[in-house]
Amino acid sequence: IPDLKLYLADIHFPADGLLPAIVQDVETKQVLMLAYMNETALKKTIETKEAWFYSRSRQELWHKGATSGNKQLVRGIQYDCDGDAILLQVKRLGPACHTGEESCFFNSLIQGSEGLKEEAVLSQLMTTIKKRRNKQQSRSYTAYLFREGLDKILKKIGEESSEVIIGAKNRNKQEVIWEIADLVYHLLVLMTYLNIDLSDIERELKKRHVKREE
Ligand code: AMP
Ligand code: ZN
Ligand code: ZN
Ligand code: ZN
Repeated sequence: IPDLKLYLADIHFPADGLLPAIVQDVETKQVLMLAYMNETALKKTIETKEAWFYSRSRQELWHKGATSGNKQLVRGIQYDCDGDAILLQVKRLGPACHTGEESCFFNSLIQGSEGLKEEAVLSQLMTTIKKRRNKQQSRSYTAYLFREGLDKILKKIGEESSEVIIGAKNRNKQEVIWEIADLVYHLLVLMTYLNIDLSDIERELKKRHVKREE
C-alpha cells in the first residue's frame, strides 16, 4: 500500500497508544468483538490481512487466533469520522470469543423483540415442541400430532407444502408467508419426532456452503 503513511496520518492513537477496534463479520455484519490496537498491531494487520491487536491484560502484541486457530481474515478496514476508532471487517475461521461464542456480545441488558435473531425464534419454537412431545396428554395441537404419530405428521407436511405452492401460484405473498410458517412448524415437529436437531440442519447447510466457496 503506497499511501499507507498518508492514511495512517489520519488515525489518531490516543495517549495510551491503544486504538479501539471493532470487529465485524464481513458477510453477516454481526459485531464480533472489541479489542485494542497499537501502531504495530495495525501495521501487522494491514501487512498480513489477519487481525492483530494489543492485549491489555497480557501487555503484548496479540495475533488473534494464533493459539486457538480462530484467526480473522481481514477483508476491510475502515476508520471513523475523527480517526480514533477502527472497524475491521473479517471472515472468521472460528468463534471470535474465547468462551466459544461466535461473538463476544452475547450478554443482554435490554433485548427488544426486533433484536431476536430468526435463529433464536426457531430454536425457541423447537424447545416448545420438545416440551409438548414429552407431555402427550396435553390438549395442545402439537401434543395431538405426536399422539397421532408419523403418518399424521407427514400428511400435514404434504398439505402445507401444497398450500405453499398454491399461495405462490396466486402470487399472494401474505398467504405464502402464512403457509411457509405452517410448513416450517410441521417440519420442526417431524424433526423432533425423528430426533433431528436444528444444529444437524445447520451443519449440513454450512458444509454445502463451504464446498461451494472452494
Ligand atoms: P486466540 O487469540 O483466539 O488464539 O486466543 C488467545 C487468548 O486471547 C485467549 O486465551 C484469551 O485469553 C484471549 N482472547 C481470545 N479471544 C478474545 C476475545 N474475543 N476477547 C478477549 N480476549 C480474547
Ligand atoms: Zn471517533
Ligand atoms: Zn469474548
Ligand atoms: Zn397451511
